[in-house]
Parts: sequence; C-alpha cells; structure tokens
Amino acid sequence: MMDAVRARIRDVPDFPQKGIVFKDITPALSDPAIFREVIDAFIARWKGERIHKIVGIESRGFLFAAPLAYALGAGLTVARKPGKLPWQTIREVYALEYGENALELHVDAVGPGERVLVVDDVLATGGTADAVGRLVARQGAELVSFSFLVELSFLHGARRLGPERVHSLITY
Ligand code: AMP
Repeated sequence: MMDAVRARIRDVPDFPQKGIVFKDITPALSDPAIFREVIDAFIARWKGERIHKIVGIESRGFLFAAPLAYALGAGLTVARKPGKLPWQTIREVYALEYGENALELHVDAVGPGERVLVVDDVLATGGTADAVGRLVARQGAELVSFSFLVELSFLHGARRLGPERVHSLITY
C-alpha cells in the first residue's frame, strides 16, 4: 500500500558525508497525492489512541508532526537544536549516524499526565529519537510511541528505542 510512497523516497549516496545513503523524502512531500497518502497513513495508525501531544523533531519531523497533530486534535510541540527555542529549555546530548548533536525542549512543552507521540522522518540509529524520549520522560510525560515515515532497520534503532514503542510506515 505504501509502494507509491516508497517509490518517491530518493536515495542520495554520500550525503551529507561519504558512506551515508541519505533518504530524501522531499519528492514524497511535493507530490500532493503522495503527501496525502503519507499523512493519512500516520492518521490511520494513531487515530483513537488518546494522544495529547505530538513532538516533532527538527527539522523534517515537523513536516509530519504538524498535520498529524491537527488531524488528531492533539497539541503540537517541537524538539529543536540548541539555541533555537526562546524560552527555558532542557537539553539532551546524543551521538548521531554522522557526528554528535543535542536537542532541546521547552520546559513547559509537555508535562505529567500527558500522553506523547514523538514523530520524525527517518529512524536510523535511534540516537535522536532516544534523546527526545529522555526529554519527554524528564518532564514527567508518558511516551506512547515513536512514529517514523522511514525506518532503516539494519541500523537497529528500534532495538535501542524498544521495538514495542516504534512504528514506521516504510522499512528498509
Ligand atoms: P539517528 O539518530 O541515527 O536515528 O538519525 C535520525 C535523524 O537523522 C533523523 O532526524 C533523520 O532525519 C536523520 N538521518 C539519519 N540518517 C539518515 C539517512 N540515512 N537519511 C535521511 N535522514 C537521516
């Protein structure tokens, strides 16, 4: 069913550095029917699941988190790179497939009693999503699941995050 979407995800070898095959999702966004199919598939998975808030991961996670939050009637918040969020933040550092980075969340972005879904475009090693999961947990919220358009299963990110709380629409 996701074959047409899969066909619009472009492999870009050696980006952003040698040895990485980058999954370019922009062709899937720019085709209106395919974009709709992607968002509808996210909605179909999470509709009725009692999610209060969706956290989109900078930057491509925002593209899916926003329409999904709107459709589910959930709140939307963002995990951003250091220095981007204007209010008080908490920070988690993580190792990436290429390099090291950190992500921040506003201290009032999520809180106790809230059921939270974390959304990003690609799950690779899981370091990024894991850091966001730690941010959510530090604020006392309940992490329902992580949801991705693409999972690179050979990097075993799901194992790192806990397979029972990983959802992905397309797996390589
Ligand atoms: P990781 O922390 O290793 O799971 O990497 C996931 C984050 O890096 C996501 O925000 C992705 O957008 C990005 N990313 C990592 N590897 C790739 C890849 N091969 N293609 C596209 N995006 C990637």
